Amino acid sequence: MNYQQGLAFALEQDRVDLLKDFRNKFLIPRHNDVDVVYLCGNSLGLQPVSAEQYIADQLNTWKNLAVEGWFQGDDAWLSYHKQLLPSIAKIVGAHENEVTVMNSLTVNLHLLMVSFYKPNSKRFKIIMEGGAFPSDQYAVESQVRFHGFDPKEAVIEVFPREGELTLRTGDIAQVINKHAPELALVLFAGINYYTGQLFDMEAIAHEAHKAGAYVGFDLAHAAGNVPLKLHDWNADFACWCSYKYMNSGPGGISGVFVHEKHFENTKLDRFAGWWGYREDKRFLMAPGFDPATGANGWQVSTCPIFLLALFKASMAIFNDAGGVDILRGKSVALTGYMEFLIKEINKQQSEEVFKIITPVNPQERGCQLSVVCKRNAKVIFKHLADNGIIGDWREPDVIRLSPVPLYNTFHDVYLAVQHLAAAIAN
Ligand SMILES: *Cc1c(COP(=O)(O)O)cnc(C)c1O
Repeated sequence: MNYQQGLAFALEQDRVDLLKDFRNKFLIPRHNDVDVVYLCGNSLGLQPVSAEQYIADQLNTWKNLAVEGWFQGDDAWLSYHKQLLPSIAKIVGAHENEVTVMNSLTVNLHLLMVSFYKPNSKRFKIIMEGGAFPSDQYAVESQVRFHGFDPKEAVIEVFPREGELTLRTGDIAQVINKHAPELALVLFAGINYYTGQLFDMEAIAHEAHKAGAYVGFDLAHAAGNVPLKLHDWNADFACWCSYKYMNSGPGGISGVFVHEKHFENTKLDRFAGWWGYREDKRFLMAPGFDPATGANGWQVSTCPIFLLALFKASMAIFNDAGGVDILRGKSVALTGYMEFLIKEINKQQSEEVFKIITPVNPQERGCQLSVVCKRNAKVIFKHLADNGIIGDWREPDVIRLSPVPLYNTFHDVYLAVQHLAAAIAN
């Protein structure tokens, strides 16, 4: 796209945007009586207008049917989660029986590592990206210790080369090869939360398997943001949250993927609970765990219907929009526009005052740009917040801005960068 400076360009792009009406499906907070410019969908997506109704419907079922709500009506709670599986399968590129929704993200990471991190004296190492999201680091370290190994030896982090900001796929492959004989698991984010780098998951999965290891992905920043093909990429497992790009509310339901090639493997350990029991016999309440076939067999506890209702509201919007592939077109354009405008500030300043550490190649990023502020970083962030521009702050000097195609506009991006420019001029 041929980007131009000036408000007229932004307004024209919004006018011809085929997705423009989707913004009306979300509730946008106000600041001094105008809508904020919300660029924080990578942290907590906005509330769908319909969310309240989806919750009200389930409150009504509870009120009117009480325990019969599990079995009665079109939305019977017993199979409520199953209504969501076609939508989420599309978003992550999986077969319907390879995905389910349950728990929250870090809990699911642990549950999946119970199955896919089975270290022995020969193979015990985990490779992950350096600077992974802290919760993932804590989960991995504690799993390693739980199995009696030392994280210092067992956890191998891959960092960018000296003087570089993001990882090269070739370097990831090299580290995997180097540790191959001792490697148990490769666990990567789909998109790194700090830099916004989108990894080549297909290549990473290929290298991990060549090394004889399992491979899993944390898709917190990728699911609902970029097109994914977990099945075709041959990932062993993956998990994600739904409250970032999937707008399902704070602490919203998480999801998991388990590749179908593992369905018949009875040697995979799992921490079982009755909700993972085969459905036709669950209520016989018999001793001895007999799992449901597919990802549903990893369920543990009774489904949290209210969280699922919020997720269902969100999935209806994704389906209306035509899915992530459609959203991706606008996303690439919006993020590219923001990058263009930020670089214009640098040109005017004759200095790189705002250094974008996210990869330049749209194939290596989602919506997010991570911007290092070379001067007065905290003051600039405060200026944005005081003017109703909501981004988020990462120590020591990074502002993350994520224009989300479902509800952000070119005008939003224009305003945000205007305020960046004003902040640096002051
Ligand atoms: C947001 C995020 C989390 C958060 O995990 P919760 O269990 O939902 O609190 C974990 N990992 C990554 C990579 C994230 O981006």
